[in-house]
Amino acid sequence: MGDSAAKTFDVIIIGGGAAGLFCAIAAGRRGRRVLVIEHNAEVGRKIVISGGGRCNFTNLNTTAENFVSSNPHFARSALARYTPADFVELVKRHRIEYYEKKLGQLFCRGRSHEIVEMLLAECRTSRVEILTDTSVERIEKGKSFAVHTSRGTFESEALVIATGGPSFPKIGATGFGYGVARQFGLAIEETRPSLVPLVFSGANEFRGLAGISIDAEVTAGSHSFRENILFTHRGLSGPAILQASNYWQPGGEVEFDLLPARDISKAINENRRSRQRLDNFLKGFLPERFVEIFAAGRLPQKPLNELSNHDIEMIEAELHRWRRAFTETEGWDKAEVTLGGVSTRELSSQTMEAKKVPGLYFIGEVVDVTGWLGGYNFQWAWASGHAAGTAV
Ligand SMILES: Cc1cc2nc3c(=O)[nH]c(=O)nc-3n(C[C@H](O)[C@H](O)[C@H](O)COP(=O)(O)OP(=O)(O)OC[C@H]3O[C@@H](n4cnc5c(N)ncnc54)[C@H](O)[C@@H]3O)c2cc1C
Repeated sequence: MGDSAAKTFDVIIIGGGAAGLFCAIAAGRRGRRVLVIEHNAEVGRKIVISGGGRCNFTNLNTTAENFVSSNPHFARSALARYTPADFVELVKRHRIEYYEKKLGQLFCRGRSHEIVEMLLAECRTSRVEILTDTSVERIEKGKSFAVHTSRGTFESEALVIATGGPSFPKIGATGFGYGVARQFGLAIEETRPSLVPLVFSGANEFRGLAGISIDAEVTAGSHSFRENILFTHRGLSGPAILQASNYWQPGGEVEFDLLPARDISKAINENRRSRQRLDNFLKGFLPERFVEIFAAGRLPQKPLNELSNHDIEMIEAELHRWRRAFTETEGWDKAEVTLGGVSTRELSSQTMEAKKVPGLYFIGEVVDVTGWLGGYNFQWAWASGHAAGTAV
């Protein structure tokens, strides 16, 4: 501490991703002298690859109910003070074209780069200094924070940790923020990959179906999502599975309604005199190859006119309430987000400041607040970044 060569700022932000840059902009606008430290060669790498290259930058329908956290109320305050409409206004001001894909999800019409360029332009206006290719070696706290890096030591009264979670290690994502939390004695809610494909437990009889998708309603815990599921070589992916992965418990089962738009008992009863075999009948509703594998060993191999009421109840259960267990996820390399993180009990929901460590802030994905698929995670990054940026 007290390094006479150290350069001093009001605020140092570690991590130049969505939350870090947004916090920098809000603090810089207030005249604070801000330094952002990023270990990658450029900031915002995850923004660039997000949304399939078109960045699903917010969701118009964002509420605290779209987030998973040990404290479901924690996100409310920040989300209320910086809303999707606020971000849309910024996007419009920078003349970035966007469109609503579905369910309130706003995407860039061009490329995600435009969002990074917008954030960098705002950083320039707010006189934010950004150091890329810089790794943090050590953090010390005396009267102020001293951040020792590969480019020397920097000091500040406020230190913001915006290093995200470990999902997608190949783009420089790390668990660095959890180390800082531990250093200062803050609790961490157990982390695991989420918004991630799941791996079937036991033998995968559906291996040959990789690439086939089905419109389904998927239920994990108390939450249901109606979108596509997609067969992979090891299990299932697709938007409905990614959503369910936020609520699935490791080793646990997920329930599927494979015909959410139909009443299969009614459809069979309307054709009760038909000699058509059940599997051929079902091929009218579901992909052929799926029916061939699914029906074998699960459904009666009979024509419709020979099905008993008991058979129909069984078919109804298999198709509308099919349950399948999954052992694990496809891991950090395939996960869009991290479930868990720095415990919200440790932070002020107004400012994101650690209650035990004045001047230390955690924002974005490093915090135990995880959004659904569909632009919610960026909205949390903007909102939590803004909350801290107006307080530091
Ligand atoms: C492939 C993919 C697609 C996604 N698409 C969407 C989408 O369309 N919509 C949506 O809402 N969400 C999406 N997400 C999730 C979203 O990108 C994240 O939730 C969001 O970026 C989190 O913001 P953050 O600033 O907290 O973390 P990040 O954006 O991950 O930023 C953290 C920054 O800290 C840097 N860093 C890490 N460790 C250190 C260190 N030790 N020293 C210095 N710097 C460090 C990282 O390099 C990074 O730049 C996607 C995620 C992935 C992986």
